[in-house]
Order: sequence, then structure tokens, then C-alpha cells
Amino acid sequence: MNHFERKRGEMVCEGVPLRRIADAVGTPVYVYSHTTLAHHYSAFDRAFSGIPHIICYSMKANPNGSVIRTFTNLGSGVDIVSGGELSRALAAGAPPSKIVYSGVGKMEWEIVEALRQGILMFNVESRQELETIDGIARKMRKKAPISLRVNPDVDPRTHPYISTGLKKNKFGIHIDQAVRDYEWAARRRHIEVIGVDCHIGSQLTEISPFLDAAGRVRVLVDRLIRKGLDIRFVDIGGGLGITYENEVPPDPQQYADGIVDAFRGLPVTIVLEPGRVLVGNAGVLLTRVLYTKPSQETDGKAKKKQFFIVDAAMNDLARPSLYGSYHAIVPVAGSSRRRVVADVVGPICESGDFLAKDRELPALTGGDLVAVMSAGGYGFSMSSTYNSRPRAAEVMVSGSRFEVVRERESIRDLTRGERTASFLTRRRGKA
Ligand SMILES: *Cc1c(COP(=O)(O)O)cnc(C)c1O
Repeated sequence: MNHFERKRGEMVCEGVPLRRIADAVGTPVYVYSHTTLAHHYSAFDRAFSGIPHIICYSMKANPNGSVIRTFTNLGSGVDIVSGGELSRALAAGAPPSKIVYSGVGKMEWEIVEALRQGILMFNVESRQELETIDGIARKMRKKAPISLRVNPDVDPRTHPYISTGLKKNKFGIHIDQAVRDYEWAARRRHIEVIGVDCHIGSQLTEISPFLDAAGRVRVLVDRLIRKGLDIRFVDIGGGLGITYENEVPPDPQQYADGIVDAFRGLPVTIVLEPGRVLVGNAGVLLTRVLYTKPSQETDGKAKKKQFFIVDAAMNDLARPSLYGSYHAIVPVAGSSRRRVVADVVGPICESGDFLAKDRELPALTGGDLVAVMSAGGYGFSMSSTYNSRPRAAEVMVSGSRFEVVRERESIRDLTRGERTASFLTRRRGKA
């Protein structure tokens, strides 16, 4: 459920008409519902209330400080994948004791900083990374708490770019060789083995891949405990999908029941790393139609297709271009009853720049405002300045108020840190 709805013909977020936000802040702009975020977090947390657990919000889905703080205020920890994320997580109130650090390519300065801050654990993805962490911890006279990220080789049946738990993916250590690596890790003097981790992919709409993975991880945890390792945490990653179009993902309670069942009787705390499921449907991207023009293509009924050219583009929301993802597009205020088939495209100079293809929509005209739905996760966080387009503003709504939680970037921001090479501006004849 979310708090974006049509009231008296007009789209609102909680108590605020989206039109008011667009008028005040301009477009394109991301709008997040604080109430939806809090509601999603609480539903997820409640689903696991029967067992000891820590929710570590996977902040790469949406790293806005106010979004993170919404969750940390409710007791959340954070799953990070870089030193930059560590810094932003701490700034947003995440206690280090609830930060887990994932990723295949942790750099030395990032490991140093995470050790200095005293995070809960590193989710280690290779033998070489273990050696590096051990070496750094020795120099810092610390013990690094770790779990190994195991790759259970299950097919999450999602988009290939966001499946991570298959043998062929770059992630984790294959589960069959994990015992060997665990025994090796346990002998390092500056490593403290405390957990097992796995994350098989994103936008999963079925529960069975989670259960397969959990079953395999359970077998491993039992073996490790029998070998005398002190496994206190089992991190089962994130990946629960959301409804973009007509997917029917398992609800958090169903998912939780399956996970709880898989680890029944183990004296461990379950760590969860939800991202998309908390934020995806709590945000929209507001954009205005600039121009419309007929396409030379026809729809199925020999009618000309349309192009709706809007002021948001693939640099603002990459998912349609990158994964061919579906995002619902809805007019913000009353619109024509006439329906047309259209491609909704941005100003960027690439044919891959689209937000929707072959979509049946009301006949829009220049100036119309539309909301691109389900854009709260992997929306702003994947945005760029391609074509020298400043990044969009971000707004958070709570009840009848709204606040800008990140300003629109300025033209000056685009060239911050850039310098013209001196040999390009030296005057002729002076050399
Ligand atoms: C991206 C990621 C997540 C979150 O995935 P969602 O599909 O957004 O829930 C969790 N854990 C790790 C290690 C990730 O890389």
C-alpha cells in the first residue's frame, strides 16, 4: 500500500496535491511519502517479530538522508556497499553496531574507515578480500567481524542484471567451498567469524528461490556450528520484489514465515537487507510534458502512434532504458478521455531514452503534469548528469506538509572540480 492516490480528480501524496509540489519546486522532481516509508518499514519489522532480527536498510536503493533517517528513527540499521554510503549512513543516524558492509570490491580506505567506526560485520566475498581485511585489522590492532557471502547457486528468476546468486555471477563464494574458507578465516588472528551471508538478487516475485537459498544456507550453518564456529548472525540479504505493473510479489509476512521456518531452532539473529520493498512504491517522479508529436509508426489499429516528450529522461530514471522496466505513468490532473498509444521519451540524444514504450495513455498536451509511479527505489540513486542535465530535486511529504530534502542541482554543480588544462589557455607567442 502507498499514499499516492487520486482525490477529486487530482493526484495527491498524503495531504499534498502533486501539482502544488511541481509548481513550487519545478520538474523533474522526486516525491517521497514519509508515511508510506514508515508504514513499509513497520510492516516488514512486524513480520519478523517472532525471532531476533536486525533490519539493515539497503541504502543503495535510495540514499537520501531523510529517507535513511526515516528508517533509523524506527530502529533500522543500514546495509552499505561503499565508503561513501558508510559516511552517509552515519550522518543519517545509523548506529555502527547495525551497519553491515557488502560488495565484491571493498577498497583499503573503505575497510579502514569501517573498522574504525566499528561496524557490525563485513560480508566478505572472496579469499583475497579476507586476507586484505585481516592485514588491515592487524595494522589497526583490531579484530574484524566477518561473515562470508555464500553463493547458493539458485535462480532468482529475475532480470539477469539483478540476479546475483547464480554460479556465473561475480558475487560471493560458492557454497560448496565455503566450509574450507570458513576454516581458513577462523585461523586468521585478526578476523572474527560471526555470521553467514547470502543475497540472491533483486525484484524477486516468488518465494521459492528465497526458500531454496535459505535451505542451503541452513545446511551450511549447521555444519559450521558443528565444527565449533561461533555463528551468531545469518544475513539473508534483500531482494523482495514490488508491484510495478501486475506482478504479485509475496507479502512480507509470507516471506518472513518462510525464512523463520528455515532457521528454526538456531541460536542466531537474522539480518535482513531490504531495499526496494521499503522505498520503491513510496516515491514517484513528477515530470511535465514539453511537446507532443506524431510518430511515423502506427499502433495495432492503423492509428499513428504519438511521442510525448517530457522533461525527465534516462539520466533521471534509468530503469526503463537499462532493464526495460515498466513504470506506470499517470496524469496528475484531469486529462483528455481520448486514448492514444505513445512512447514517453526524454530530451536526451539517444533512442534508448524512454520512460515508457507503446503505452496506452490519455492524449496529453504540452504543460500536462504526469507522475511516473514506483520510482522511490533505484530512481534518484541511479541518476546521472548525462547530457549535462542537473540532477532532479527530491521532496518528502508528511501529512499536509512537504519539504525539499535535496535541492535541484545547479549549472555550477555540473562543473564543480573541473579545470581547463593550462596548456589549452596559454597565450600564443608566450611559450
Ligand atoms: C542491492 C542489495 C540489497 C537490496 O536489494 P533489494 O532488491 O533492493 O531489496 C541487499 N543486499 C545486497 C548485498 C545488495 O547488493
